[in-house]
Amino acid sequence: MKFKTQVIQTNYLSPSVKQILFHRPPGFEFLAGQFVTVRFRNKFGKMIKRQYSISSAPTDFKFIELAVTLVKGGPCSTYLHNLKIGDEVEMIGPAGEFVLSTIEGRYKKTFICTGTGVAPFRSMIWDVVPNNTNFIRLVAGYRCKEDALYHNEFESLSHQYENFLYKLCLSRENNPEYPYKKERVTDWLKDEKVLMTSETYICGLDRMVTDVEKILLDKNCQPKDIYYERYD
Ligand SMILES: Cc1cc2nc3c(=O)[nH]c(=O)nc-3n(C[C@H](O)[C@H](O)[C@H](O)COP(=O)(O)OP(=O)(O)OC[C@H]3O[C@@H](n4cnc5c(N)ncnc54)[C@H](O)[C@@H]3O)c2cc1C
Repeated sequence: MKFKTQVIQTNYLSPSVKQILFHRPPGFEFLAGQFVTVRFRNKFGKMIKRQYSISSAPTDFKFIELAVTLVKGGPCSTYLHNLKIGDEVEMIGPAGEFVLSTIEGRYKKTFICTGTGVAPFRSMIWDVVPNNTNFIRLVAGYRCKEDALYHNEFESLSHQYENFLYKLCLSRENNPEYPYKKERVTDWLKDEKVLMTSETYICGLDRMVTDVEKILLDKNCQPKDIYYERYD
């Protein structure tokens, strides 16, 4: 479906990531984990198209939410970061097959991400955790605490629902007052003695996805139980 939508709200989730809420047109249905393609013409008239995972839940009927990292010199992320309330944007979608394999049943699923790779997982978490249909564990990696996206929301969800566990990995945080070990998601995964998961979903930049997948395979995870979305 090709459609035009308007910006409802924008907000910084971290110094480099903007949360952008767009009006959700009637009839726009999607599965948690899917993405939209944003398209626009740059100042030279060239059509630019990039994909963005929807970070809101399918049950948020009023808006489509994106979480966008500003990439230095990147045309589309710069375009999205410069949007103001009321601006019109062209999108195509939804699309993508990075969706939960089995929504019903108490499967243990581990979500591993870095940066805005958390976006599709936020949609999935709101889709299944409150309905108690799955046991979900989110392992999210950033450089420092101020980069952590939706941190308070995930902390509060993990207190509210016993079927949701949240683990934050900070690779460069040196503040001794924070109760977080300095580690990457890959360090956490290597240290995990028993992989308490039936399925693992990985989302983020190619290098992290490849590293995580290799560790999982070394731990004898079955390739059929590993799902991933690469952002580059
Ligand atoms: C299925 C899919 C879903 C995606 N969902 C998101 C999303 O929810 N949020 C988001 O910010 N991006 C997402 N991306 C990446 C997005 O499509 C663009 O690649 C990104 O915004 C850069 O586009 P650009 O035109 O600004 O820069 P370009 O000039 O196209 O930048 C190219 C380089 O930017 C780097 N890059 C791409 N994405 C990121 C990122 N998220 N963080 C840091 N560096 C990055 C890569 O190294 C890439 O080679 C997704 C990509 C795919 C394929």
